[in-house]
Amino acid sequence: MVNLPRMKGAKIKKRLALAAIFAHPDDEAFGPGGTLARFAKKNDVYILCATKGQAGKDSRSAQKRTLGDVRADELRRSAKILGVKKVFFLDYEDGMLSNSIYHELAGRIARILKKITPEIILTFEPRGISGHIDHIAVSMISSFVYERMRGAEVILYHCITKERAEAQKKGYFIYIPPGYRRDEIDLVVHTKDVWDVKVRAMREHTSQAHDILRILKRAEKFPKEEYFLLRAKHDTKKWLHKLRTILDGKKQK
Ligand SMILES: [Zn+2]
Repeated sequence: MVNLPRMKGAKIKKRLALAAIFAHPDDEAFGPGGTLARFAKKNDVYILCATKGQAGKDSRSAQKRTLGDVRADELRRSAKILGVKKVFFLDYEDGMLSNSIYHELAGRIARILKKITPEIILTFEPRGISGHIDHIAVSMISSFVYERMRGAEVILYHCITKERAEAQKKGYFIYIPPGYRRDEIDLVVHTKDVWDVKVRAMREHTSQAHDILRILKRAEKFPKEEYFLLRAKHDTKKWLHKLRTILDGKKQK
């Protein structure tokens, strides 16, 4: 192996790793899929999914395979479209994430994160966006792991605006907590240029076709943007700047 001398002043480009931790297959595409696609262009994105979505509604007509297996495959295909390197399933039952498995789930997440050593963790905001208890559990448990994980420098909480939360409320089957005001949101990612990628990823979730149509119709009324709260262990400003740079598609410094 030849050791090339480092050029004075040259910066070594470092690929960053992001671990996105979700509760169900489809949380990635229906949620921050545009951001994942943008980030994955020059960095490494991994998905950890706590369940296989076994309890979801089923839009399929023929049902030879279990819904969990089908939905796991849908997530793998969606992740491929978004540019995700690998999907890890944590194999819990949909709807069963709770205090009783808190530290067990935290342990499984921590073991995977130790292997992929992400600088960035992404998950649901603490109210779980839609209020689904599985989402809230994943948010809390991911935050617990993040605080203790050396090398994890920043956590991004995917959230929605107040207006979007209001629009989602109509006819939804559970209580939707309030969204966030613009001045509470730290990072806005414009997803117009990756919108087609996000929609293709969404369409891979064919067993959830009932949701896809509803979400796409609602999305027409809002700007193509995804929103995050950002918390960093050190130097929040630096991370905000770095992530804004990466996700705006500008050259990574
Ligand atoms: Zn979900």
